[in-house]
Amino acid sequence: MKGVIIEKNGGPEVLQYKTDVPVPEVKQNHILVKNDYIGINFIDTYFRSGLYPVPHWPYTLGREAAGTVVASGGGETHGMKEGDRVLWMAEAAYAEYTAVPAAKAVKLPADLSEKIGAAALLQGLTALTLIRESHRVNKGDWVLVHAAAGGVGLWLCQLLKAVGANTIGTASTQEKIDLATKYGATHMINYSKEDVKTKVMELTGDKGVAVVYDGVGKDTFDLSLECVARLGSMISFGNASGAPAPVTLARLSPKNVRLMRPTLFNYLVTREEFEHWSNELLDVMVKHKIDVRIHEVYPLSDIKRAHEDLQGRKSTGKLVLDPTK
Ligand code: NDP
Repeated sequence: MKGVIIEKNGGPEVLQYKTDVPVPEVKQNHILVKNDYIGINFIDTYFRSGLYPVPHWPYTLGREAAGTVVASGGGETHGMKEGDRVLWMAEAAYAEYTAVPAAKAVKLPADLSEKIGAAALLQGLTALTLIRESHRVNKGDWVLVHAAAGGVGLWLCQLLKAVGANTIGTASTQEKIDLATKYGATHMINYSKEDVKTKVMELTGDKGVAVVYDGVGKDTFDLSLECVARLGSMISFGNASGAPAPVTLARLSPKNVRLMRPTLFNYLVTREEFEHWSNELLDVMVKHKIDVRIHEVYPLSDIKRAHEDLQGRKSTGKLVLDPTK
């Protein structure tokens, strides 16, 4: 089958597109899925670069896809059988076929396409758990979202609009500012031109925001902490610019700030949690008419360019792969 493997850590050049990768064996409690569309996530670049350690070599990146069940390994398959269209979140997505733990898959609703499903799951669930679990946002709250025109960012803009929050987003270009505004951010700051802290304090009457969602990491961590209001939350959930430096707890006491570093996968450990949040997401998508913006569908063979675009800040919304090309 077609697939992408890495045999060492490094830049996009270590991504090897192959056409002779063996189709994986399907074990008990697993289903074999023929992937139609694969979602690209920033976490894929962390495993590629070595920021996160890969469990074995060679390794296939990719954490989510949508497709059709073509075989079952028996055991507990949670009602999923051959022919079912499914959405899944596990490992080894950059391939035509993936053996997926059945507990990490759900059926794709009839009115949702594989393309939108693959684009929505991981980033949508991230945004949803961030605003409901990491720090619950209420109507009228002031919220700061970095990289507001990115994949997770556009989800946050839409979900926060539905809650009725005052969302201040940051982005690097006017095109991204316009896009995030269209998707629901109430105020946008072009950090290439304006000082973010000054603007945040101006907008919030010098109070700061109830919560910062910071997926940029190293470059923005200190700024984010400065923008949080007294009794607010600093949610650091990613490393797009590198991992933030270690923090001394004493830095939190001047404003009684809560600091959290959530990972989506730890909200979805049990089958019940996976089903609960996936169903919740699918409901929210319909109820709030969520627009899942796809930046580009890349051929799997063009994986290097896709990683370069994501890491080079060239993309908005979601990058998706087509494994047949
Ligand atoms: P994005 O589409 O948001 O892309 C990253 C964006 O970050 C860029 O477009 C850019 O926007 C901004 N950015 C700022 N500085 C840099 C830099 N030095 N290098 C690259 N980008 C930079 O990516 P995703 O939506 O896939 O992910 C966003 C963040 O969320 C990532 O950190 C990711 O790891 C994290 N995440 C965490 C999860 C969790 O479970 N904790 C789950 C999913 C995602 P601009 O040009 O506007 O600055």
